[in-house]
Amino acid sequence: MSVLIYIDQAEGQIKKSSFEAASYGARLAEQTSTQAEAVVVGNSSADLSMLGKYGIKKVHHVNNEMLNHFDAQTYTRVIGQVTEACQATVVVLSNNVNGKAIAPGLSARLKAGLVAGAVSLPDTSNGFVVKKGVFSGKAFANVNVLSPIKIIGLTPNAFSPVAGEGTAEVVAFNASIDAPRVKHLATNKVQGQIPLSEAELVISGGRGLKGSENWGMIEELAGLIGAATACSRAVADAHWRPHHEHVGQTGGSIAPNLYFAVGISGAIQHLAGVNRSKVIVVINKDPEAPFFKAADYGIVGDAFEVMPKVIDAVKKL
Ligand code: FAD
Repeated sequence: MSVLIYIDQAEGQIKKSSFEAASYGARLAEQTSTQAEAVVVGNSSADLSMLGKYGIKKVHHVNNEMLNHFDAQTYTRVIGQVTEACQATVVVLSNNVNGKAIAPGLSARLKAGLVAGAVSLPDTSNGFVVKKGVFSGKAFANVNVLSPIKIIGLTPNAFSPVAGEGTAEVVAFNASIDAPRVKHLATNKVQGQIPLSEAELVISGGRGLKGSENWGMIEELAGLIGAATACSRAVADAHWRPHHEHVGQTGGSIAPNLYFAVGISGAIQHLAGVNRSKVIVVINKDPEAPFFKAADYGIVGDAFEVMPKVIDAVKKL
């Protein structure tokens, strides 16, 4: 019996959210006196034995050229086979884009209860109660999972990875793989940008910036402090910025150390994707803007006057 953690990768590199899932799964295994094992699908440039540092005892590596590009259906079948083979009673994966695509199919295949968006370790003292965010992060629900196998989709950035000592045993797993129904044609990468989901610092702009031509100051500040750039949905809908930058209920969900919001009103749907940021700084010319209620620091002022001053101050640091 074990807790199985799915280690999500991008271009053969383990994602930060997978280290969080690994640490979370290892703590849960400790709590339930079981073993933490992991599954890696597709080729990997990482030394998988180092997952031992996060408490993983064994890594099942399913390596096959048909698995080198993410395909939710094929990955779900493979992870299902590994779950059955190691008789895992809990599967942990990050509730990121890939995790959200895998978890429902896995839940159906394993007849397992799924808690998507878990924010803390389950309470196993009386059942298996998992706390998850609901209503766009406005409230929490405690869900008791009754099925023999349970799946947990861990909210990215909700659990800090803890690295210690240790080496995991890495074993090859031969899965039966049908030819994928989806053919990978090409990967179009966004050049030179820090991926939003991994960024510690994020500078974000809203409709208050009036147009795409005014994004120079957002990009300049982001470049100076090594931040990723983001935007509100209104901005992406207006085609001022690409949709992959849009954060919120229908966009990316992030929890950086700093979220710097310029000319964004702070609608509930926007806050749903950013309200787990450690520090929120807001610049808005309307003192009544709802974002100020969620902000740690707020500047009431015109972004076109305030931002150049912020940029100058940062340059002097
Ligand atoms: P606005 O609401 O137009 O706000 C602009 C702000 O800029 C105002 O507060 C204004 O005071 C300020 N401002 C104006 N000029 C200046 C200036 N010169 N200097 C400083 N401040 C200035 N939105 C998201 O962002 N993400 C989502 O995922 C999302 N999902 C949604 C899902 C649903 C189902 C629905 C119905 C809506 C969703 N929305 C989402 C839209 C959301 O409700 C808001 O409409 C949107 O966030 C507004 O974007 P904004 O704050 O950039 O624009």
